[in-house]
Amino acid sequence: MLFSNIDTNKNNKVKEKILKGVHDNKIAHSQLFYGTRNSPKLKVALAYAQYINCLSPTKKDSCDKCSSCLKYKKLQHPDLHFVFPVVNSGKKKPISDSYFNEWIEFFLEKNNVSLDDWDARLNELSGTKQSSNIYQQEIERVIRKKNLKNFEAKFKVFLFWMPEKMQPQTANKILKTLEEPPKKTIFIFVSENPKLMLPTILSRLQKIKIQDNNQNQTKEQHKLNNKHHVLYQDFSFWMRAAYSFDVLGISEWAESQSKKTKKEQINLLLYATNIIRQCVIYNFTTKELFLQNKEESTFIKKFAPFINKKNIIPFFEKTEECIKMIKRNGNKKILFFELSLQYAKLLKFK
Ligand SMILES: [Zn+2]
Repeated sequence: MLFSNIDTNKNNKVKEKILKGVHDNKIAHSQLFYGTRNSPKLKVALAYAQYINCLSPTKKDSCDKCSSCLKYKKLQHPDLHFVFPVVNSGKKKPISDSYFNEWIEFFLEKNNVSLDDWDARLNELSGTKQSSNIYQQEIERVIRKKNLKNFEAKFKVFLFWMPEKMQPQTANKILKTLEEPPKKTIFIFVSENPKLMLPTILSRLQKIKIQDNNQNQTKEQHKLNNKHHVLYQDFSFWMRAAYSFDVLGISEWAESQSKKTKKEQINLLLYATNIIRQCVIYNFTTKELFLQNKEESTFIKKFAPFINKKNIIPFFEKTEECIKMIKRNGNKKILFFELSLQYAKLLKFK
């Protein structure tokens, strides 16, 4: 990927900053390129990785001809390792290597890849309807590979696409590596929603925001869709942590929520109430879903079986109580943590 291949009209300043960093020899060993669904963040990250490894770069771009560039062009370089979410279908080992060819094909055919689209592709490929994850086995693979000597590149690159899909336990394993980075190795994270990443990981990354060039969507529409998507991701992560009684995950999540504004906190709880209400409608009236986008519909169908006559009322009551306490300026971290434990208990009601 060349910088000149990317429609970077809104990212020219960022591009200049990135190039300057390389020219000044300031290459951070852990970096985050983030932006909304349609931002060309992965392309910029790849152009960057190619540039720092190019054997005869110009001031503004890679040469596109050297042995490193030719391998980077095909995304097949022995010192370039991808990590992305996969599903555990039981047919293949749930690691990126098992889905590498499919992922490359997906990347090459789309102008811009998004998590939604990849999840849909994974469902097609595996015949399952699971949501994707970056599993613990993946990180074990990364840790093994990071200790190997570089084959040929100046910098070995680990590119994590959608690191927000790491569960807290998995993320904690990678954290140790970021604390003691191996030489001549760069970790590049490319995220749609970095708020869902562990704060301890985020704090170690050099962050670069990549703007969306898409002109078709009105700003207002885009803002709304994005807000919805963030709420959904926050909520689904929370429910997974509550259901699996992942206390560390819950605690990290409560911590990250506690740093948001009061309005955002209340919005999330109202969103939770709304999703639970939709589950009730789905369970007890019609099996059809209205007004949700695709990711929410898929989630509600899976979540609805856990909502039943015994726990509906307590769900609403506990959530409402929490909203009241937030309005009264209670300790947000404790409130979110306690509500999570209540949810965890309620989800086990049969
Ligand atoms: Zn080159």
